[in-house]
Amino acid sequence: MPRDFLKGCQDYYDVVVIGSGLAGMTTANILGRAGHRVLLLEQHYKLGGLATWFLRPGNHIFDISLHGFPAGMLKSCRRYWNEDIASRIVQLKNIRFDNPMFSLTTTFNREDFTKLLTAEFGVAAESVKQFFDAARSMNFYDDQRLTTRELFEQYFPGREDVVRLLMEPITYANGSTLEDPAITYGIVFSNFMAKGVFIYEGGTDDLVGKMHAELKRNGVDVRIRCDVSSIDVGAKGVEAVEVNGRRIRCGAVISNSNLNSTIFKLVGEDKFDRDFVDQARQVRLNNSSTQVYMAVKEGVEIDESTGDLLFSSTAPLFRTEALLSRDITSRTFSFYYPKTRPHKRRRYAIVSSTNARYEDWSELSDEDYQASKQDLIDTTLDALDKYVPGIRDKVDHVEAATPRTFQHYTKHLCGASFGTKFEGLAVSRALPEQIGGLYHAGSVGIIMSGWLGAINYGVIVANDVDQHLMRSSSKAAITA
Ligand SMILES: Cc1cc2nc3c(=O)[nH]c(=O)nc-3n(C[C@H](O)[C@H](O)[C@H](O)COP(=O)(O)OP(=O)(O)OC[C@H]3O[C@@H](n4cnc5c(N)ncnc54)[C@H](O)[C@@H]3O)c2cc1C
Repeated sequence: MPRDFLKGCQDYYDVVVIGSGLAGMTTANILGRAGHRVLLLEQHYKLGGLATWFLRPGNHIFDISLHGFPAGMLKSCRRYWNEDIASRIVQLKNIRFDNPMFSLTTTFNREDFTKLLTAEFGVAAESVKQFFDAARSMNFYDDQRLTTRELFEQYFPGREDVVRLLMEPITYANGSTLEDPAITYGIVFSNFMAKGVFIYEGGTDDLVGKMHAELKRNGVDVRIRCDVSSIDVGAKGVEAVEVNGRRIRCGAVISNSNLNSTIFKLVGEDKFDRDFVDQARQVRLNNSSTQVYMAVKEGVEIDESTGDLLFSSTAPLFRTEALLSRDITSRTFSFYYPKTRPHKRRRYAIVSSTNARYEDWSELSDEDYQASKQDLIDTTLDALDKYVPGIRDKVDHVEAATPRTFQHYTKHLCGASFGTKFEGLAVSRALPEQIGGLYHAGSVGIIMSGWLGAINYGVIVANDVDQHLMRSSSKAAITA
């Protein structure tokens, strides 16, 4: 008999959270801690969504998206998770750039960037100061007409090298382009520049394990292998979810599934106003990624001066288009030294990440797909040889993930790495106005995605849902 992953589940919960990405888990944790009855349903056999890991023979652990986040994670984890998690957030100090325009190592914060821009790039100190101040003063409600390209042109006219230094890591980090609203760049860039790039010491397996334990402590009912097939909506709003052949009633639903899937697959467009559906149709998905995971043989050492994060490119100029091209010229290498998992066996791993388009991979026959993955592996090893000479002899396991892989494991349409583009945020926020008790918390646009963005968006939505549940219970008390 197949295992019943819903065994012991209640028939009714105050809130059902669909998906255990960082936004889903955070919102579930806050609401559980506030005393609401929360059910968290994850279709995969592991928690974490894109913030997950996998194990390969030889005790090799690979992290999917543990490459770096801003210092703000410390505060968010302390407040909305616990001190133990927050205390493991540490800075990455060796951020390297290597491309035909420049090669440098930086701590990736305002002080060091100011030094680099003035001393190495010869930019006037006043322009640098004004740029940083302008970026830092941007906030969410500002005018969105100014594009990132225009912002750069204002402070560093004609300086393609400066634009590359300032933009390449952010494009890698969240797929944003020079045509996106400048505020999306300014907010994310300033978050990093405040203190630098941080990582979780212990690895994603440790982090997600600790989050799971905290969820349980806060009374959240966590279920894996529970694929929600629909959200049932009645005259007064959400009523229930359908999962693994069972109907579970609830007072509110928070979907951490992709925004477009939530609207068009889980709920169905006939449940929304026509204008809203038209607006939702305009929401663009973000691009996807490819990754190559390389495990270093036991006993082989890699010097830490190789860098923690290395933005490498052979393209003569910075072009967003080139970053997405199937003909890869830019790769971001993340180096995982034994310090990443100090409590585990001494191991090194390297992950190469590149932005990618789903359509470049989706139509390939099985044979071509396998050949393309092999080509991705071969060209990546060739590129890495410049930084770790003899890399082919130093690794004992290599494998690749493509946009198809990301779609398969997370159900993100087209394997989108960062959910939707910026316009998704307004649609996500408008869901409860359309259907009472229906919320979405998950990657929408540049600010509300990535580890920090996802967690912070989870916090915002948890507050909304808490108020919704309070209103519903006081209404019930009045009518009782
Ligand atoms: C290759 C790569 C590298 C990245 N690197 C970084 C980085 O260095 N720093 C950074 O800050 N960010 C990085 N990110 C982005 C970051 O990982 C994500 O933005 C963030 O983890 C997304 O969290 P989320 O809450 O939106 O949900 P997701 O992680 O997208 O999770 C959604 C969850 O919902 C589940 N689900 C979907 N549909 C259903 C259903 N019907 N029923 C049940 N469950 C369902 C999925 O299985 C999944 O677990 C990277 C992303 C990728 C792809």
